[in-house]
Amino acid sequence: MIHKTAAELGALIAAGEVSSVEVAEAHLDRMAEAEPKINAFLHVDRETTLAQARVVDDRLRSGERLGPLAGVPVAHKDIFATRDMPTTAASKILEGWRPPYDATVTGRLREAGLVILGKTNLDEFAMGSSTENSAYGVTRNPWDLTRVPGGSSGGSSAAVAAYEAPLSTGTDTGGSIRQPASVTGIVGMKPTYGGSSRYGLIAFASSLDTPGPFARNVLDAALLQEAFSGHDPLDSTSIDAPVPSVVEAARTADVAGMRIGVVKEFAGEGYQPGVLARFHEVVQLLESLGAKVVEVSCPSFATALPAYYLIAPSECSSNLARFDAMRYGLRVGDDGTRSAEEVMALTRAAGFGPEVKRRIMLGTYALSSGYYDAYYGQAQKVRTVISREFEAAFHQVDALVSPTTPTTAFPIGERADDPIAMYLADLCTIPSNLAGNAAISVPCGLADEDGLPVGLQIMAPVLGDDRCYRVGAAVEKALESRWGGGLLSKAPAL
Ligand code: GLN
Repeated sequence: MIHKTAAELGALIAAGEVSSVEVAEAHLDRMAEAEPKINAFLHVDRETTLAQARVVDDRLRSGERLGPLAGVPVAHKDIFATRDMPTTAASKILEGWRPPYDATVTGRLREAGLVILGKTNLDEFAMGSSTENSAYGVTRNPWDLTRVPGGSSGGSSAAVAAYEAPLSTGTDTGGSIRQPASVTGIVGMKPTYGGSSRYGLIAFASSLDTPGPFARNVLDAALLQEAFSGHDPLDSTSIDAPVPSVVEAARTADVAGMRIGVVKEFAGEGYQPGVLARFHEVVQLLESLGAKVVEVSCPSFATALPAYYLIAPSECSSNLARFDAMRYGLRVGDDGTRSAEEVMALTRAAGFGPEVKRRIMLGTYALSSGYYDAYYGQAQKVRTVISREFEAAFHQVDALVSPTTPTTAFPIGERADDPIAMYLADLCTIPSNLAGNAAISVPCGLADEDGLPVGLQIMAPVLGDDRCYRVGAAVEKALESRWGGGLLSKAPAL
């Protein structure tokens, strides 16, 4: 059961061949076996999960028409508000907090009949690339338990790669869906900014945060994206425009005649040789499938990382001001002798981890009077230049490709004391966050040096999400026959 795709499970449940409760039980059993090693989940409650599955079974039995994923389990990143489960963003400052409402993404999962298996681990407030910044312990990569599963949505990527869930949700602010998908050998998609709702998502950098899906194959990811995305009046940056069907695109799986650009700046020095080897092979594969491949130069992409590390911390310093010891979660030192300011300072000092504090300080500095123009203002100009470069590139080609991340999964601890090395994991993913366009990571093989998964990033224009799925599915289809049984069948058994 746990090896089936989400589409297959949905079809079996719809046909009445298996119940949603049985599918949930199989995954809960798998979690009981895998979690001691993986630690993908922060919160699991068997009874709440089975109760949801029973409701879906009843709805289906009574003849209600639900979507293609009705009854299928999903692991949900613990940054989305869930009214029946704790929501912590992996921070001590939110320990024990239960939101009084559901995020839009959560609500749509429920409406489509998906069953939430639990809440997954992440870097605190989604700041990081390894889950090592979680206040509740690191998640381990199912391919090699001594390595990170990527981040910030590392619990979600590991859960899917370890067959604990067929689907999971993530958020991508600078690469937090694509990079973990890449290093765990699964599919992860960052939709167009504004294509999926931020309502009820704990904010990190509001102009960048984008919910998206993880799955073990391209079609499943498309089905999940279609289930929870679309216009939401509760999110002021939500796009109210018709979007091409990503499910149809995933089924098309054809690149004949498409123009595909290789980003020249993202495939040279500093990249792991095994990553480059798989990337160059997959570019050739695209050509053999009938795509017209050209090299495209995007020189400003090299400035995306420094610009991001001014813009994202600036927004985070403002967003995280709401954790003031009065409204949510933790409150430290409130013994009647201290002022509100003192309680606030003590609570924030105790509740936030070191990376979150670093970002708040960086952002506060970048926004402060006298420095604003030189840092935040300058970074915003760079952002505009990057968007224009994307636009120019998309006049030339239908999609751009690059490796998703410069290296395969790195060992736990290796970059923990070196923030710059950690930040470099998102070198290739950040430009699409700054410009808001769609981008996906699909597996393209294993690196020779370490036998670990390599991801191909496919970037498409704003609202061109369908192109990511179309190209991704074509690559998947062509490689599947070579791998036989899918890339994950090569992962060492847990
Ligand atoms: N790793 C990047 C950061 O730390 C991106 C995180 C994300 O996309 N949420 O900011």
